[in-house]
Amino acid sequence: MKEVRVRFAPSPTGYLHVGGLRTALYNYLFAKKNNGKFVLRIEDTDRNRLVEGAVEKLIETLKWVGLDYDEGPDKPGDVGPYTQSQRLDLYKKYAEKLIADGNAYYAFDTPERLQELRDYQYKNKLQPKYDKLALKLSKEEIEEKLANGEPHVVRLNVRSGEKIKLNDIIRGQVEFETDIIDDQILIKSDGFPTYHLANVVDDYLMGITHVIRGEEWLSSTPKHILLYKYLGWELPEFAHLPLLLNPDRSKLSKRQGDVAVEDYRAKGYLKEALINFVALLGWSTSDNREIFEMNELIEEFSLERVHKAGAIFNIEKLNWLNAEHLRKKPAEELLSMLKEEFKNSKYADSIPDDDYLLLIIEAMRERVSFVREYIEKCPYFYERPTGYDEAVIKKRWKDDSQELLREYVGRLKRIENPQKEDYEKILVEIAEEREIGKGRLIHPLRLAVSGVGIGPGVYDLLFILGKDEVINRIETALTKISK
Ligand code: GLU
Repeated sequence: MKEVRVRFAPSPTGYLHVGGLRTALYNYLFAKKNNGKFVLRIEDTDRNRLVEGAVEKLIETLKWVGLDYDEGPDKPGDVGPYTQSQRLDLYKKYAEKLIADGNAYYAFDTPERLQELRDYQYKNKLQPKYDKLALKLSKEEIEEKLANGEPHVVRLNVRSGEKIKLNDIIRGQVEFETDIIDDQILIKSDGFPTYHLANVVDDYLMGITHVIRGEEWLSSTPKHILLYKYLGWELPEFAHLPLLLNPDRSKLSKRQGDVAVEDYRAKGYLKEALINFVALLGWSTSDNREIFEMNELIEEFSLERVHKAGAIFNIEKLNWLNAEHLRKKPAEELLSMLKEEFKNSKYADSIPDDDYLLLIIEAMRERVSFVREYIEKCPYFYERPTGYDEAVIKKRWKDDSQELLREYVGRLKRIENPQKEDYEKILVEIAEEREIGKGRLIHPLRLAVSGVGIGPGVYDLLFILGKDEVINRIETALTKISK
């Protein structure tokens, strides 16, 4: 069997769209699953849309998420270069072959004439299509115009009255009538190929066996199939992935939120969560399992299980997956991520030591969805409370709270090097002696040392802060909280 070769072929726009990430991921998974090769090809033939540094940024993002390609602009293979602007001669060569065989032709229309044609067609409710006027030129006329350097394009010569059949792996049988296909421009007046020509030439020359891409390219596929036919090339398999939709079922757009992978990265989403999330945008296993690591996705993935219906982009699900993946991480890994996070926080100059942070990591593990929340959700581990939550005071601070906390401090002072159990033991003792519920101590204690009413288990909280700090904070609170 032929080796599977797939490609991700982005146009460098300056950021990686989440839809692009999904396309790249499905290609990667398909390649890995089939022991094939995954190629990165940069489609930069639209010179008006070039963005400085975009390719480097894209490569950096792909590396960050872990989608390693086997061949690409910075990973030479046998069929490079992998950047279309470096392959112009190849497109020219095939355009000339198409012209020589009568399957493409030069056209010298001015923008004004094309506009008039479009206006006419619009007014008369005709399909907007080139009228093949250039085909009426004689060979001599064409040569003269070319020799005079007249601006021109090369167009695909689509014959009407034919049917083009496509057997898409995901969408099944799809049929197109050639009558509705325009004589697509293949080479633009700037000499650059359009997407269609360059894409087909490269897929063929790069030995691509499966073209896996977004559904928005389905309507271009008949033009591509014609090109394969005219050039006498065998067709690859096609698989068009379902559209990504906003919750209101409109097409996922920048307007309704972030679509750039880089933005999610900057917001602190884990690559594991993003990969897991986009994997499920249009694909599922038969048991609808939700949590996957990359190796498990490779194991389970198949194009046959990709859905036809549009996939809804649900940010809550991404947040949930982020929390799940974060919780699964070993403490040491969380520690180094947290230390990075600290560097960009207001505590950058006073980052606590590793042992202290490791205790916080264990105490807060079930309570955070993002690494930054190890800082944001529990500032009391890093600084003394500057105030006390009024609502908590109202609800939890009782007439005997002052006295109970004084008692607690007194007993704590007598214990040398208290462990977590000791903080519990003295609390239980006081509660039992006075025949009161433990809550009568727990809530005022928490409030006194943290300033708030929620957080990790109170004994963890006290133990992590340590004896001196706890005593200091309680004594301060006793002078400040009154009711
Ligand atoms: N350059 C196209 C894009 O930006 C590639 C489409 C395809 O995969 O054929 O998505």
